[in-house]
Amino acid sequence: MGLDPASRDLLIAAANRAHAYLAGLDARPVQPRPDAVDSVGTLGGPLPLDGLAATEVLELLDRFGSPATIASAGARYFGFVTGGALPAALAANWLAGAWDQNAFSETSSPAGALIEATAERWVADLLGFPAGTGVGFVTGATGANLAGLAAARTAVLERVGWNVRDQGLYGAPEITVIVGDEVHASLLKALGILGLGRERVVRVPVDGQGRMQPDGLPPIEGPTIVCLQAGNVNTGAFDPAEVIIPAAHARGAWVHVDGAFGLWAAAAPWRAHLTAGYAQADSAAVDGHKWLNVPYDCGFVLVRDPMPLRLSMAVSAAYLPDEDVREPYDLVPEASRRARGVDVWAAIRSLGRSGVAEMIERGCHLAGRFAKALEAEGFTVLNDVVLNQVLVSFGDPERTLAVIDGVQKEGTCWAGGSEWQGHTAMRISVSGWSTTEEDVDRSVAAIASVARGLD
Ligand SMILES: *Cc1c(COP(=O)(O)O)cnc(C)c1O
Repeated sequence: MGLDPASRDLLIAAANRAHAYLAGLDARPVQPRPDAVDSVGTLGGPLPLDGLAATEVLELLDRFGSPATIASAGARYFGFVTGGALPAALAANWLAGAWDQNAFSETSSPAGALIEATAERWVADLLGFPAGTGVGFVTGATGANLAGLAAARTAVLERVGWNVRDQGLYGAPEITVIVGDEVHASLLKALGILGLGRERVVRVPVDGQGRMQPDGLPPIEGPTIVCLQAGNVNTGAFDPAEVIIPAAHARGAWVHVDGAFGLWAAAAPWRAHLTAGYAQADSAAVDGHKWLNVPYDCGFVLVRDPMPLRLSMAVSAAYLPDEDVREPYDLVPEASRRARGVDVWAAIRSLGRSGVAEMIERGCHLAGRFAKALEAEGFTVLNDVVLNQVLVSFGDPERTLAVIDGVQKEGTCWAGGSEWQGHTAMRISVSGWSTTEEDVDRSVAAIASVARGLD
């Protein structure tokens, strides 16, 4: 059956609605109004017996879904360290949706596999990793931590003659897992899934910015995985990789990095000093949907020597992956999946190395502007603003929580709350490609006005 002529109208209608949605973001509250959220209920109800024309389905979604969204694609959303989708990445995502490729292998999608292979090289290059680094295209940093730590587990046990993928962990030599005390919850979750335990980790004390203190590192003996953080989710601070990685390697440990957003600093020449030493890591987890500004869901697991990752992820226990063939399914937990590499390729192709650098640097610059302006208003910035993260206190915890709630309801911008070393804070993350100085100034004015209104 050929293509229904109405399908063109449908796709154009979708594009028009999407464009109108994006164009309207600047004028609407970032957090949806409660009545808009209530109206999503219209899309509920029992399972319908009969179908509905696709244009009407789209109309329903736009009428009741769009107003209930949080405007995270817009310029004044500062929550959860996520950015909006770059125009080229969004458009590529739509085209790839039409392709409907099953990107699990080169056979199922030549385009998917080959574009992903290019995106692999570009991502590794931007993040400062050497040629030959394997990159698995996963759902986010949680999936990337899982895959990277699975590779780590395989490698450190292989070094002591234990085949974990075939024999499992029962009876295996013990693995010591070392983390910083401000480790991200998703890394502990990954350890739990992998049978390494969320709580049997050795925690290294951290300083006031959340950085691991190298002299707090325990002596490394036997199979060991050391987990570093490039970009603390609250402060943006980096563990001292230049000191820890060589010391860990000298004792035969595997070093895994959670660099969900922070490792992108490597792509900006003015911030790259923060990532000194990180390219020596054995594996790293990085997000695409945070600072690279590609659509959800997208993350990367980078592995300098891809073999332990491939051994962990290969689909058949009997099958040893061929070193010279890059099959996408050898590098990720999933088999069938969407062609994430297409959006990534488009984002990087549209920006180039210089555009990525500029985007990352701009986020850092705007975070600095936020901090300065909020301090000038008399509020307390709790962290050294080295990257795109700003932690602000408005006084005691109750007052800070009231300001956060008031700012979200007021709607000019959106930032969430966090706990930082005994303080309650508003956490502002500047991760979106479209945020300008004017957006920061408008947001600061709104925050200050909400705070003053509480007096
Ligand atoms: C966001 C984040 C994660 C989890 O990433 P997802 O993409 O949400 O899975 C892990 N680590 C750090 C440091 C993060 O900021």
